[in-house]
Amino acid sequence: MTHRPTSGPSSRPLKDLVLVGHGMVGQRFLEALTEQPGGADWRITVLAEEPRPAYDRVHLTSWFSGTDADALSLTPPGFVTDHGIDLRLAEPAAAVDRAAQTVTTASGQVLHYDALVLATGSYPFVPPVPGHDAAGCHVYRTIEDLEAIRDDAEQAGTGVVVGGGLLGLEAAGALTALGLETHVVEFAPRLMALQVDEGGGQLLRRKIEELGVTVHTGAGTQAIVVGEDGRVRGMGLSDGRELPADLVVFSAGVRPRDQLARESGLPVGERGGIVVDERCRTTDPHVYAIGECALAADGRVYGLVAPGYAMAETAARSLAGEHRDQDAFTGADTSTKLKLLGVDVASFGDAHGATEGALDVLYSDSRNGVYKKLVIGREGQLLGGVLVGDTESYGLLRPLAMGGEPLRTAPEQLVLPAGLGPAGPVTLPDEAVVCSCHNVSKEQIRAAVHDAGCGTVPEVKKCTKAGTGCGSCVKLLGTIVTEELQASGVTVDKGLCEHFAHTRTELYEIVRVAGITSFTDLVDRHGTGEGCDICKPVVASILATLDNGHILDGEQAALQDTNDHFLANLQRNGSYSVVPRIPGGEITPHGLITIGEIARDFGLYTKITGGQRIDLFGAGVDQLPAIWRRLVDAGFESGHAYGKSLRTVKSCVGETWCRYGVQDSVGLAIELELRYRGLRSPHKLKSAVSGCARECAEAQGKDFGIIATSTGWNLYIGGNGGMTPRHADLLAADLDRDTLIRSIDRFLMFYIRTADRLERTSVWLDRIDGGLDHVRAVVMDDSLGLCSELDALMERHVDQYQDEWAAVLADPERLRRFVSFVNAPGTPDPAVTFVPERGQIRPARPDENGTILSPALVAGPRLEVRTA
Ligand SMILES: Cc1cc2nc3c(=O)[nH]c(=O)nc-3n(C[C@H](O)[C@H](O)[C@H](O)COP(=O)(O)OP(=O)(O)OC[C@H]3O[C@@H](n4cnc5c(N)ncnc54)[C@H](O)[C@@H]3O)c2cc1C
Ligand code: SF4
Repeated sequence: MTHRPTSGPSSRPLKDLVLVGHGMVGQRFLEALTEQPGGADWRITVLAEEPRPAYDRVHLTSWFSGTDADALSLTPPGFVTDHGIDLRLAEPAAAVDRAAQTVTTASGQVLHYDALVLATGSYPFVPPVPGHDAAGCHVYRTIEDLEAIRDDAEQAGTGVVVGGGLLGLEAAGALTALGLETHVVEFAPRLMALQVDEGGGQLLRRKIEELGVTVHTGAGTQAIVVGEDGRVRGMGLSDGRELPADLVVFSAGVRPRDQLARESGLPVGERGGIVVDERCRTTDPHVYAIGECALAADGRVYGLVAPGYAMAETAARSLAGEHRDQDAFTGADTSTKLKLLGVDVASFGDAHGATEGALDVLYSDSRNGVYKKLVIGREGQLLGGVLVGDTESYGLLRPLAMGGEPLRTAPEQLVLPAGLGPAGPVTLPDEAVVCSCHNVSKEQIRAAVHDAGCGTVPEVKKCTKAGTGCGSCVKLLGTIVTEELQASGVTVDKGLCEHFAHTRTELYEIVRVAGITSFTDLVDRHGTGEGCDICKPVVASILATLDNGHILDGEQAALQDTNDHFLANLQRNGSYSVVPRIPGGEITPHGLITIGEIARDFGLYTKITGGQRIDLFGAGVDQLPAIWRRLVDAGFESGHAYGKSLRTVKSCVGETWCRYGVQDSVGLAIELELRYRGLRSPHKLKSAVSGCARECAEAQGKDFGIIATSTGWNLYIGGNGGMTPRHADLLAADLDRDTLIRSIDRFLMFYIRTADRLERTSVWLDRIDGGLDHVRAVVMDDSLGLCSELDALMERHVDQYQDEWAAVLADPERLRRFVSFVNAPGTPDPAVTFVPERGQIRPARPDENGTILSPALVAGPRLEVRTA
C-alpha cells in the first residue's frame, strides 16, 4: 500500500484533493500540480471511470495500426506512486455533495475534499434516431470503443460513419483500414465544416473519395435499419435514400460531461459545460472544472486538447497558491493541423473570414491537390486561413495570424509554392506564439538564445519546451534560433569541421556525384589541411557506404576511429570485446557451444547483450585474429559492434512458437539482418521485429522496427533508447514483405544520404524539414523521384557485402596491424590486467594486483579462476 504522508514539507497538515476523471487533461493537471512546491500540500485521490490510466486520445486511431494501450499511455512509469497519488481505476464518481464537501463513488465510498477538480471530458453525441442502440452501432472515444469496432468489423462488409468532421474522418480512415467499404454521412454541405471553407472542403472531399470512401454531404441520418437479429442492416437518410450498413459509427460531435456539476447545483451553460472563471473555478470556490467538460470564461467549450492543457495548468497553479495574472485562462487558439486519411489539412485563426471587411487571397491547384486560402484584415494583417493538401507553411502562418500586425510580406508570397514567389524574409512580431502547445512566444525563444545562452535548437527546446508538443513549429523554431544567433554576431557555421565548409550531407553528395574514392582526393578538391578526428571517420563512413571497399585498406585504414581500427570495441582497461553476429538472435546449440569453447580457451568474459547476442570481453589486440579465426571457421561473421552501422535485428519467437504470434518474426529479422549487415551509416542502427502487437521485441524503440499485423507488417522509424528515449513513428501500415523491405531500403539510404554526422535516426527525423510526412512522401510515394537511385545504392551494398573479419584473416598485410607494440609483436600490454569475479574475469582496478594478459592461447583457461 502507498505510504501516504499526513503533512506536507511545510509540516502543515495535508489537504484533500479529489480529481474526477483521469483523461488527457486530468493527467496534465496532476503533472502541473506536482511540479509546483505548493502541490505537496495536497493529498490527491483520482477517480477514473476508465479501467486504465490516462492515455493519448488524440492518437487513439493508431491503436488500429498496432499502438497498444501501454504505448498510448500518458502516465509515466512510477508517476502515481512517486507522488503518493491514490488512483482508483474503474471507480467513477457518482455524486457530489457540496455542502458536506464529499464525493460518493459508484461503489459507495464517500471521500472528503478540500478541493474538487472535475475533468470529466465529453461524451459522443448519438442522434436519437430509431435503431441508434442496435447491435453494430458504435461511438469512437475510448480504447474499449475501438475494441468493439474491431470485433464487429470482422463480420462486417460495409460501415457508415455519421459525421464528416475531424473525428468522423478519423473513424472513416479506421474502417477503411479494417477492410470495410466505408461511407461518411454529413449533415452540413461539406466535410469538416467547422475548420475548412467551401473550396477547401471540395478538395478534401475529392481526395477522400479518391481513397475509396463514399461521402454523402447535406444528408441527415433518419433511422438505423435493424434486422430481425437486432443488428444493423442499413441506414435511412433524410433525402430518402437507404445505405446498406453492417456497422455504424456515430461521430456527430461531443457534449460536455457536466452531470455531476449539474446535479450538485453548479451553474452549467445553456448548451452544456460547467461554468468557470479565468482561474477555472466554478461558482463554488472549492470546485474547479477543466478540459472538455468546462465552459471557459470566454463562453466557449473547447473540444481540443491544447486549451484543456492550458486550463489544467491554470487550475494547478491556483491550487498550489502560485497564481499569477498571466496564468488566467481567457481563451485559446483553436488552430488545427491534421493528417486525415493521409490528406494534410490545417485551419487557423478566422478561417471563414467572419471579421468585417476581411478579404481572401486564394491559391488553388486542383491538379496537384493543393488549396490555400488566407484571410486578410482591413489593415493588411493576416487573420486566418485554410490549407488543404500542403500544410508546410502552417508553422509560420499561424503565429503570424495570432500576432495581428500588418503583414510585411505580400500575402500571395505566403501561399505560392516554394520557388514560385519572390522569396523574401517573413518577420514575425515578438509576441507571436510560435509553439501553441506550450504557449511559447518568439520573444521567449529570443530570450532563450540571448539571455539563457542557448546556442542550438535542442537547447532552446529544453529551456522553453517549444517544439516538444505536436512538433508543427520545429521548423520555424530552427529558423528563429539561427536568425537570432546570426543577429547576435554568432557565425552559424554549418561546416563539418575546420577542414570542410560542407555539411556531412553535402560531402555525401560530392563524393557520390564526383565519384571520389579517397579522403586525400576529397580534401584536396573540396577542403583544406590534413583532416582531423571529426572529418576523417565521417569521410571514411561515406566512402564505405558508397564504395564498399574494405575499411582497413590503404589510406582508408588511417581514417578510422579506434574501434574501427581494430574491428573490435575498446574497453576501459585497454582490452577489446569481440561480438560475432547472431542474426535475429537465433543460434544453434552447436553455435553456442563453439562460442563457449572459444571464450573458455581464451579466458574471455561472456555476457548476453540486449541485442540478443553474446559479447566476449577481455581480448588483447594480439589475440583478436586468433579468436576470429576460430569464429570465422565456425561460420560466424563480424557483428559490427564497433562500427557506425547496423548492429542487430532483435526478434521475438513469433508465430512459430508463440500462441499470439501472427507472422514469422524470426525469419524476417534474420533476412533483414543479413541484408543490412555491414551497412555504414552516420550513426549506429538498431532494429527489431515483433510477431504481434504485444511487441515483445520492443521494435518501437529502434531506428527501424517492424510489428506484425494479421495482414502484413507495420513499419516504424526513428525510435531510440539511450539517454533520450524516443518512441518510433509509424511510417506505413500493413505492408507485404516485398514492399516492407523496399521501404526499409529506401528509408535507410535516404537517412544515410541526408543525416548529419553522428545523428541518430530519431534526431534526424525531428530535424529534417517536413519531418515524418516528408520522409514518408520520399520513401513511400517517391516525392523527390529518388527511389530508383536509393534502390540501386542498396542493391550495390547487398551485392558487395563481405565479412570484414574474414577479409582481414585472408590478408597478411591487414593482419599486421593487430599488435600491442609495433616493434615487439606478440608481446601483451602489461597495463591490461584482470582479476576473477563470479567465475569469470573483470578488469583490475588501479588498487588491485591483476593478472597480465598472456599471448593468444590455443587451449585451456588463460587465467585461473578462484571462486572460493
Ligand atoms: C479519436 C479522437 C481524436 C482526437 N484528435 C484530436 C486532435 O487531433 N487534436 C486535438 O486537440 N484534440 C483531439 N481530440 C480531442 C481530445 O482527445 C480531447 O480534447 C481531450 O481528450 C480532452 O481531455 P479531457 O481530459 O478533457 O477529456 P477526456 O480525455 O475524455 O478524459 C475525461 C475522462 O474522465 C472520465 N470520466 C467521466 N466522467 C467520470 C466520472 N463521473 N468519474 C470518473 N471519471 C469520469 C472519462 O471516462 C475520461 O477518462 C480527439 C479525440 C478523439 C476521441
Ligand atoms: S510479440 Fe507477440 S508473437 Fe512475439 S513473443 Fe510477444 S506475444 Fe508472441
